[in-house]
Amino acid sequence: MQKNDIVKVVIEDVGVGGEGIGKVNGYTLFIKDAIIGDVVEAKVMKAKKNYGYARLMNILTPSEYRVEKPVCQVARKCGGCQIQEMKYDRQLEFKNQKVRGNLMRIGEVPERLLDRIMEPIVGMDETEGLGGPYHYRNKAQFPIGIDKDGNIVTGFYAGRTHSIISNTNCALGVEINEQILKLILDFMKEYHISAYDEGKHQGLVRHVLIRYGFTTKEIMVCLVINGGGLPHGEVLAKRLAKIEGMTSVTLSINKEKTNVIMGNVIKPLWGQMYITDYIGNVKYQISPLSFFQVNPVQTEKLYKLALEYSGLNDVSCGNPRDKVVWDLYCGIGTISLFLAQKAGKVYGVEIVPQAIDDARNNAKINEIENAEFFVGKAEEVLPQYYEDYAKEHGGETAHADVIVVDPPRKGCEETLLQTMVDMQPERIVYVSCDSATLARDVKFLRGNGYELERVRAVDQFPHTVHVETVVQLSLKKDTPKIEVIMEPEEESNYTPKGKASYSNIKKYVKDKYGVNVHSRYIAEVKRLCGLEMGENYRKSKKENPDIKYCPPQKKEYIKEALRYFGALA
Ligand code: SAH
Repeated sequence: MQKNDIVKVVIEDVGVGGEGIGKVNGYTLFIKDAIIGDVVEAKVMKAKKNYGYARLMNILTPSEYRVEKPVCQVARKCGGCQIQEMKYDRQLEFKNQKVRGNLMRIGEVPERLLDRIMEPIVGMDETEGLGGPYHYRNKAQFPIGIDKDGNIVTGFYAGRTHSIISNTNCALGVEINEQILKLILDFMKEYHISAYDEGKHQGLVRHVLIRYGFTTKEIMVCLVINGGGLPHGEVLAKRLAKIEGMTSVTLSINKEKTNVIMGNVIKPLWGQMYITDYIGNVKYQISPLSFFQVNPVQTEKLYKLALEYSGLNDVSCGNPRDKVVWDLYCGIGTISLFLAQKAGKVYGVEIVPQAIDDARNNAKINEIENAEFFVGKAEEVLPQYYEDYAKEHGGETAHADVIVVDPPRKGCEETLLQTMVDMQPERIVYVSCDSATLARDVKFLRGNGYELERVRAVDQFPHTVHVETVVQLSLKKDTPKIEVIMEPEEESNYTPKGKASYSNIKKYVKDKYGVNVHSRYIAEVKRLCGLEMGENYRKSKKENPDIKYCPPQKKEYIKEALRYFGALA
């Protein structure tokens, strides 16, 4: 095979980037925009020894998975969508297979297990009349530039480049975007406001950020400018303010020669500095620099799934108000606040300080008081917490009931995974935007006492190749540890003060001495005192050498509590 060869190819597979894959005499070709089932004519652009890349020239026989006409006219050129020309149900199948394939290949999860536990991908409802879900994004960042005729344009970058494909009507964004963009372009022409030129690092307006609250219908517009202010900004603000729902108009100052879109200084032009929106019943204030999930409809489904997988809603898992949850990579606390409504205590960890400010503020406006947030790297904060806890509690290990992680594409570092395993949570819920690193981390967790129990992909980004996955891992039952299961003797211990239940004992010790005592310690002291443990206490067959015994001081506190509640003479 050589460059510029024209070949006929039957597309038999889909690559991870959504490209079609076919073979010509055993030689593999990757062809962007070709769809599995197509027969195409393609021109070889790059030929390596065993495989090459070709450009789609003609569709000779269209695949049954191909849509008749893509909704967006620039679907192929634009870098935003990769598989818009594939029918939506086939997109879902492709994403599901991608997750499954990675878990099998990289994660070494047996196929039999996946057949049993993998649940159907959560797709999005189709937008009426469009043959797929569209207009789902609540945020868009449009670059502003000049076309070859000198006109100010906006749209999206072509794949892998910074040349702007002019389009004010992106089918993934909300419809109001178009009106806002046209208004801004007209204003710029009228007042001779220049567009930014990346090559020359000259000109004023770089990007327009638009955010839309799906629940509140509030709109935010933020102009990113290469300068300290916007001439006639008040005119623009006045015009934008007339649009129904407009809530916040701001400027973001970015004078750097950089690919980073937003500048860190935000100046008000009109209205508030933020908009408000909801996911489920949790309210969030979103400022121009806040991270917020872009598909609120699917995000709600994703978080509900994370909640379901956490077991906090499951009565057989015990009282959720006793549960300690960690939400690592928590962003602005979205998952944390969702879970805090059920759990006893939620700790969130996030690397970006601004996001933690937002998280704390979001907790406040929702009157959620049982969530606490830490700034830092998850792989540093959690191990440090674990170490400090043991030092401060006479060797007692910090315990969590549920750990949720939602890392960026690179997944979790092994030091973090190890600490998670050390903390022995009953459940680990892993939310992932890259199933390859998810699979790698699942392999580690399965090798260290956890079993994969549930897997489900969620389509957060229809028409792109991205897919989110949620998995539930549970501590294997034979993992060495002492476990408290039931407390049947409590019934007979009833006194007007209350029962000698684990939660009452914990509360008694906490209120009186200000320290926490773990259920394991209570079980240990009960056993030492010869109290009937019966069904409520189970010790593993294998003795765990790492098990931490109750420090003497805490033993005394627990004994005192047992006496107080009449369980001990
Ligand atoms: N769970 C949140 C955010 C998930 S995105 C939500 O659903 O909204 C991943 C988050 O991890 C980002 O906010 C990113 O800033 C953060 N992050 C990246 N590396 C990190 C690290 N090493 N430790 C903690 N947080 C990190």
